[in-house]
Amino acid sequence: MTFASLGLIEPLLRALDALDYRSPTPVQTEAIPAVLAGRDLMAAAQTGTGKTAGFALPLLQRLSTEGPPVSSNSVRALVLVPTRELADQVHESFRKYGAHLSLRTHVAYGGVSINPQMMKLRRGLDLLVATPGRLLDLHRQNAVRFRQVQTLVLDEADRMLDLGFSRELDTVFSLMPKQRQTLLFSATFSETIRTLAGTLLNDPLLIEA
Ligand code: AMP
Repeated sequence: MTFASLGLIEPLLRALDALDYRSPTPVQTEAIPAVLAGRDLMAAAQTGTGKTAGFALPLLQRLSTEGPPVSSNSVRALVLVPTRELADQVHESFRKYGAHLSLRTHVAYGGVSINPQMMKLRRGLDLLVATPGRLLDLHRQNAVRFRQVQTLVLDEADRMLDLGFSRELDTVFSLMPKQRQTLLFSATFSETIRTLAGTLLNDPLLIEA
């Protein structure tokens, strides 16, 4: 199996080549074509399985080949993560894989000044990686609008719930457009996560890494 045979475009293949990724992992082999096709996903995947590239690569491709340009203060894709460390790490992956695409991406989390994050959002972003609390702070200040969100990703959903983000997540979901793609990644699938998946996902592809 090659990345090219999964349908990825040349600028992404070039980035993968430079990173010396030779072939897709099992999660990537399943996730990439499904996400490219616009499907929802529910994936049981731990760190180390290559899950990040599994959603980042097809998401970058959809953002660069589909949809209208982003309006001011809007975002076209939203990736929610539990911690600032993971936020930086996931955003760095998007930057590396998207090195040959011209997409506007940024990262936002609490514990640092909100002003630079608000400035970045002014012209709109193709992709924002954020922790739930700071995302809602930005929304309350009218710095971010969700009308243009075409894809919502929940990364490490179980950890977000463990860290007490359940109410913030419910608020975020209530603000999302109904018509969108949703990708849910979690190391474990508790009853709570299954219930969440039941309300958020539409005919999802199930992946067990
Ligand atoms: P993740 O499971 O997303 O945290 O990724 C684990 C590590 O594997 C990261 O350091 C990635 O850079 C690396 N990685 C992901 N996919 C591949 C691949 N197809 N080939 C080689 N390394 C990869």
